Amino acid sequence: MSAVKINFGAGPAALPVSVTEQLALSIRNYDGSGLSVLEIPHRGKLFDAILKEANERVLQLCNLDAATYEVLWLQGGGRLQFAMIPMNFLPEAGAAGYVDSGFWSSDAMENATLWGNTINLASSKDCAYKKLPEIPERFPENLSYIHLTTNNTIYGTQWKQFFNSPVPLFADMSSDIFSERRDYGLFDLFYAVAQKNIGIAGVTLVVLKKSLLTKVVRPLNPYLSYRDHVAAHSVLNTAPVFAVYSALLMLRYISDRGIAAIEEENLQKAGLLYDTLEKSVSFELIAEKNSRSNMNVVFRGIDPETENNFKLFCDYKGIEGIEGHRRVGGFRASLYNAIRLDQVQYLANAITEFDKTRT
Ligand code: PMP
Repeated sequence: MSAVKINFGAGPAALPVSVTEQLALSIRNYDGSGLSVLEIPHRGKLFDAILKEANERVLQLCNLDAATYEVLWLQGGGRLQFAMIPMNFLPEAGAAGYVDSGFWSSDAMENATLWGNTINLASSKDCAYKKLPEIPERFPENLSYIHLTTNNTIYGTQWKQFFNSPVPLFADMSSDIFSERRDYGLFDLFYAVAQKNIGIAGVTLVVLKKSLLTKVVRPLNPYLSYRDHVAAHSVLNTAPVFAVYSALLMLRYISDRGIAAIEEENLQKAGLLYDTLEKSVSFELIAEKNSRSNMNVVFRGIDPETENNFKLFCDYKGIEGIEGHRRVGGFRASLYNAIRLDQVQYLANAITEFDKTRT
């Protein structure tokens, strides 16, 4: 039986039923191999084929070529990328530019200060990250790289446009990768934890330009070095086979639907929910209109009693994972790729029905 509640959680997030069903089957017998996917070796033909297809699909979906970019599957989540990026690319006497659009981007910057200097290029902290900060027209000279977060999961803001960076551009795309058409070629390195748009927790996708590997600034332990991971083709240590397999199933699902169709549906989903909330007498939206995310819709009740009642109403309706992040409170509906339009319609109807109890 498939799950019956609708999970609007920010991550670990909903997966398509077709993916969870295939994962369940693969636990019994992986692709007719007579082994569970949980017991197949990470250095062997079966996992080699999983990795090869996953890497090819990532590059295809990003419209990038294998001569220029490498694909890695690493553990340690977004947090390890916050650390590995400066360790590999920020010299002690150098400086990196960070765009501060929320908690995760500021955490990434804080991690970097352990290894070199950081320059806060733009920040919206002063307005509680309700909107995106303004990117300056010119950047300071001699930055080693610029880092930004494409979608701010906690505050519900999202960059829709990017820029040609004069220095390597790095991005945390954890909560919106493959959710819309994007020029991935603008980025020299980008990464995404899997547990939102591309699978389950336990693996992080990193895509980076091969040319960066010549710019590593200090000797590092192998697991902290992109160069070592590239040389080991993502199996430097025992790889999280099941998590990578879940990502492959998600990549197949995304490729089958096509990013243009996914983008179209994501726009409809977000549009429907924002419209409903704008009309609601019970809720107010938090992020400013021009900055709003199509992935995480953040809102709050007009008073604490309304919030408590809506939580109970959601329980009754089988709507899960809708509580806001503790830093913002209120509610957050995450509309990642696996969430369907009819499920967002269900949530919108629930909001309208809840409104009627007040009028
Ligand atoms: N970056 C973003 C944009 C996130 O939303 C999150 C949290 N899920 C992280 C990084 C941190 O990921 P992890 O918990 O895997 O370290």
